[in-house]
Amino acid sequence: MKFQATRELVVKTCIDLADRGYLAATGGNVALRADEKHFAVTPSATDYYAMSAADVCVVRLSDQKQVEGRREASVESGLHAGILSARPDCGASIHTHQPVASAYTLFAKPLDVRDRGRQALLGRNIPCVGYAPSGTALLARRVARSVKPDTHAYLMRNHGAVCVGNDPSEAITRVAALESECASFLLARMEARSGTLDGSVRALVIQALQPMLGHALPRFEDLAKPTSKKAPWPQKIIELLRDDAARLRAKALFGDPGDSLSLRIPGREEFLFASPERSDPKAFPLQTTGPEAAGLHAMIYRARSDAGGILIGQTPWSTALTDIGATIPTLFDEQARHIGSAGTPIAAGRETRLVGSLRRGTNVAIYGNQRICIGTTPNRVVLNADLFEKCAKAFVVAEASGDRIRKLPGWVRHIARGRLRKDRKRAAESYAAGRIPEGMNAY
Ligand SMILES: [Zn+2]
Repeated sequence: MKFQATRELVVKTCIDLADRGYLAATGGNVALRADEKHFAVTPSATDYYAMSAADVCVVRLSDQKQVEGRREASVESGLHAGILSARPDCGASIHTHQPVASAYTLFAKPLDVRDRGRQALLGRNIPCVGYAPSGTALLARRVARSVKPDTHAYLMRNHGAVCVGNDPSEAITRVAALESECASFLLARMEARSGTLDGSVRALVIQALQPMLGHALPRFEDLAKPTSKKAPWPQKIIELLRDDAARLRAKALFGDPGDSLSLRIPGREEFLFASPERSDPKAFPLQTTGPEAAGLHAMIYRARSDAGGILIGQTPWSTALTDIGATIPTLFDEQARHIGSAGTPIAAGRETRLVGSLRRGTNVAIYGNQRICIGTTPNRVVLNADLFEKCAKAFVVAEASGDRIRKLPGWVRHIARGRLRKDRKRAAESYAAGRIPEGMNAY
């Protein structure tokens, strides 16, 4: 099946949205970018809980021609095509009939976002496009015309909303934030009314809307309770983690089953963890133990107080290294400077050896059939993973030739080791002080 992963993600996203009550019956649909030219979209009028990846349609962006899927594509495919074309930075476009925002669209006016946190998520002003019937080219055109780079939600008069995001998780967060903001508006309006509203109706509205106010970030409830008073970190770290995941995905370094990615939350004994299987990041304490991936991440953070991010997974070139059973020599300047000398491959389960190897300062280890990559910053983990992949590829290709491979001169490695050691010290101090270290990218 073509674009299987994206189509499966469409199914998951729909179920998640339906679970949260944002899709009424079969109203609403999800479009996820599959590649530069195509997007995957829910089929028309489908029970989300009975839908499978094979039902999910793949549609060409340019002319909305359906190229995959055994059902007919959503009537709002044109709407999503317009949005995804106007927002090349977005991978997800979600159309909902979410109850509170849909109620707001009945006012046929834009929504001023008052809450600062939600402003960051949604934009300051959410337009409301004039009425056009569902599934029409007119509606698609009206929404496409209102799309702006700094606005991530759009209201459609007497209909519902569209939220965009890098990925489905971000778009769902925005769906929730939009619902909260509309609830907040409606409650404030009701409070401002004097004496004309029936008491029991008022009570009912409060009962319905009040619980939504705190739902701006429903996927990260465990992070909504800060352990320190300032703590602006989790949202920032969530964004950084998503950025990293997207960049790694683009390089095919993240996204396969078994891959995992995490970032340290500065100043806290926690890290934020993501895997391709669960699109919403989750916070774990550094004391986490166990055979799960999060336990391995925690062990590495405990061993390396300078580690700002960790990527674990398998790639073709790191697997090739395991296959030829070779230790990659230090071959390039950048490799020496940012990755350090690689230790010999370590068998899975040999935790003490792994910790020892990482403590010596290498930022990449081959552990079982996985490649562990450490970065002192969120940016560095992506760069290091990419760099290692290139080095591994160069080495395997060169090694395969049978010709002799020259290592980097010892003195170059020596200087690089010293610089790497300084980086580690500075990074560890920064994290302890609650900051992400800066300036780690220069040679
Ligand atoms: Zn609709």
